[in-house]
Amino acid sequence: MKILMAASEAIPFCKTGGLADVVGALAQVFGRRGHQVAVMLPKYREVEAAGLPLEAVPGRFLVPVGDNLERASLFKTRCGKAEAYFVDNPKYFDRNGLYGDSAADYADNDERFLFFSRAALEAAKFIDFRPDVIHCHDWETALIPAYLKLLYHTDAFYARTGTLLTLHNLAYQGLFGKDALFLAGFGWTHFTPERLEYYGGFNFLKAGLVYADRLNTVSPSYAKEIQTSAEFGRGLEGVLRQRSGDLAGILNGIDCEVWDPETDQCLPVRYGRANAAEGKAACKKAMRHECGLAGARGPLIAVISRLDPQKGLDLVQEVLPRIVEAGAQLVVLGANGNGHEFREDFRKAAARFPSAVHLHAGFDEPATRRLYAAADLFLMPSRFEPCGLSQMIAMRYGAVPVVTHTGGLADTVFEADGGRENGFVALQATAEDVWAALQRAIAAYSRGKEWSRRVGVAMSADHSWERSAEAYESLYQAVVSSPAFGRG
Ligand code: ADP
Repeated sequence: MKILMAASEAIPFCKTGGLADVVGALAQVFGRRGHQVAVMLPKYREVEAAGLPLEAVPGRFLVPVGDNLERASLFKTRCGKAEAYFVDNPKYFDRNGLYGDSAADYADNDERFLFFSRAALEAAKFIDFRPDVIHCHDWETALIPAYLKLLYHTDAFYARTGTLLTLHNLAYQGLFGKDALFLAGFGWTHFTPERLEYYGGFNFLKAGLVYADRLNTVSPSYAKEIQTSAEFGRGLEGVLRQRSGDLAGILNGIDCEVWDPETDQCLPVRYGRANAAEGKAACKKAMRHECGLAGARGPLIAVISRLDPQKGLDLVQEVLPRIVEAGAQLVVLGANGNGHEFREDFRKAAARFPSAVHLHAGFDEPATRRLYAAADLFLMPSRFEPCGLSQMIAMRYGAVPVVTHTGGLADTVFEADGGRENGFVALQATAEDVWAALQRAIAAYSRGKEWSRRVGVAMSADHSWERSAEAYESLYQAVVSSPAFGRG
C-alpha cells in the first residue's frame, strides 16, 4: 500500500513526547513490511538542527489559508525504510518550539496546523504520491479527513484515498474559535453539530472524528474509557460513541533496537537479562554520583515524564516524604508540559532532601537512557494514560514499573497475573493507593530472589511493534474497502 503518514512530530526529526516515537516507529515498521511510506512533517527549526541531510524538492506550491494563498515548498530525506517530507513555510515553522515557547502555546496554532494539514494534501499532489491511506495523528492533522470529504471530494487525485485517524491523547483537541473555520476554508454550511461545530467553536479533533474513515486509539482500555466517561472523553465521548463500530484500540510498541540496554551507547555499562543485576548496579552507582545522591538501602525510583497534571505528579509530591523515610531515593527527569509548578515543587524537595531526591529539569534523551538503566522502580501514577511508552521502555531496561490502573498502563503492567507479574499497580490515582503500591514494591525489592524474577519478567515482555503492525494493516484494509471510502 501507499501510506501517507501525516503528523506534527516524528523521530528522528522532531519530538516533544511519545507521539514522535510512535509515528517514527510506524513509518519504519510499515516500510519494512513492504509498504511505500511517505512521512509528512512541518519543517520546524528543530528539523534543521537534527542535522540529517535535507534535499530541496524543486518548485513551490500554494496553499489556501482564508482568503490568501500561502507559499510552501518541500524538503525531503530518506530515513531507513521511509521517505520523509517537510513542508516549509518559515512564517509558521521557523520558531524555537514545535507548539509554543516556554511560556505558552503559539497564539496562531490553529492557522499553523490548518495550513500544514492542507499543505500535506497539496504536497502529495505536488510530488505525485497518490496514497491509498492517509494516516493522521491527533488534532494537528485531524482536519485532513474533513478536507478530503468536504473540499477535495471531486478531486480525482484523491478518488481512491481513505483516512485513518489515530487518537494519541484526547486531552489535546485543537479547540479554536469559529474564525478558524473560515481560515481553514470551510463555510457556514459545515458549521453544524453533526459536522464541524463544537459548542459554538471549531474543534479540529472532532472534525477528524466525524470524517475519518476509521479511528483508533493507542490501547484497548483507553478506547473503552474515552467512550464511557467525560473524564476520559473530554467532551467528545458522544461523538466517539457514535463511531464506536469504527473505533479500534491498538497498543503502541517500542522500537526494541532503539531501546536496548545491551547496545545503548549512552550507558556507562551495558547489560542484558542475564547480567541485569550487575549491570544495573553499576549504572545506579554512576547515576548516584551524577546526581550527588548518597548510597541507600532502598531502591532508586525514577520519574521520567512530561511535567503535566496528566502524569499524576501531584501524587508523587504527596508520597515523596514517605519515599525518603522508607530509605528509597527519587530522581525526576522532566520537561515540557504545562506543569511549571511541578518543577518548582520538585526543586524544593531536592533542596530539602539533597541526599535522596534529585531533579534534572530539561529535555535530555541521553539522561533518560541512563536513568532507565539506573532505576530499580519506574513511577508513573498517571491520572489517565492513552498508552504510555515510558513504562515499556523502563521494563526493557529492567526498571520495574509502579503505575495506576488506567488506559495503556492497565494493558501492559500486571502485579499478579500468573507468570506475567512485571510491576506494581495502584487501583486508584490517589496518594494512598500509590503509596500502598510503592510499599509493596519496596518490600519486594528487599527480597532478592523475588525481585530478580520480577525484573526478568519485565525485561522479557514483548513490546515490539510487529505485534501491532498487523492490527494496523487490517485497519488500512478496512479503510480502503469501507463503503464510505474516499467519498463524502
Ligand atoms: P507522553 O507521550 O504522554 O509524554 P509517553 O510515555 O507515551 O508519554 O512517551 C514519553 C516519551 O518521552 C518517552 O520516549 C520518554 O522517554 C520521553 N521523555 C519523557 N521525558 C523526557 C525528558 N525530560 N527528556 C527526554 N525524553 C523524555
